[in-house]
Amino acid sequence: MKIKVIKTKAKSIFTRTKLPGSKRVINPYVGCGHNCLYCYAKFISRWRPGNYGKWGSWVEAKVNAPALVKGKYVDGWVFMSSICDAYQPVEKKLKLTRKILENMDKRIKLAILTKSDLILRDIDLLKQFKDIEIGFTINSFTGKAKKLFEPNAPANNQRIKALKILKKKGFKTYTFVSPIISGLIDLRDVISRTKDFSDYYWFEFLNLRGAGKQFAQALEKEFPKSYEIVTDKAKFQQFIKECKKIINSQNIKVRGIEIH
Ligand code: SF4
Repeated sequence: MKIKVIKTKAKSIFTRTKLPGSKRVINPYVGCGHNCLYCYAKFISRWRPGNYGKWGSWVEAKVNAPALVKGKYVDGWVFMSSICDAYQPVEKKLKLTRKILENMDKRIKLAILTKSDLILRDIDLLKQFKDIEIGFTINSFTGKAKKLFEPNAPANNQRIKALKILKKKGFKTYTFVSPIISGLIDLRDVISRTKDFSDYYWFEFLNLRGAGKQFAQALEKEFPKSYEIVTDKAKFQQFIKECKKIINSQNIKVRGIEIH
């Protein structure tokens, strides 16, 4: 799918956040060509002109972001990124994230979360940061679920390969298991495939409200059993309980389990 790129100029680049574990966020882009159907960041569309089109079909590139980070030190962990994937497809050509990393004060504590192995391109720069943690969102989506829910994001296998490479290069790495949906995620399998390359884990259960109407409709139509569990309070609680049991039995370091 062709993505519309809108070049914008940001007023500031480090934004305060209440996200667990971080003090600030940095978003090179607003919008994301990975076009995940469940994307929680799509609420941003409300404040964008209607002619932008659907979430996932456009991206704003903050072209002045590399200049904004230059010479600026901020304390606490900076999370990249909350309303985009810094390594989404347009980054390959635009190299905006790369330019930001080039200019960023390397004393800044940086945590990057992505779904793309494009991050491997920037290992030379990432290595220069003293405190850096790199995470991949990994789940069990394949086939129909992958096509429907994460159409333009690299496959989970590719993400795991990249995670392995980064671990071998000596980076502190983590796996963000999300979104956890009954019948569509195999926690034991995800953990067993990532355990050797992850220093720690975050887990996140599907936020159906945040994922939006279109996602809910698709889930109901294509995976009715999964939909039934996420929309039935008692069944969902039971599912969470079972997942927690699995997580606690895995001998891994867990930073957090997000339940919305
Ligand atoms: S990769 Fe993240 S930001 Fe991008 S569309 Fe998917 S969920 Fe949204």
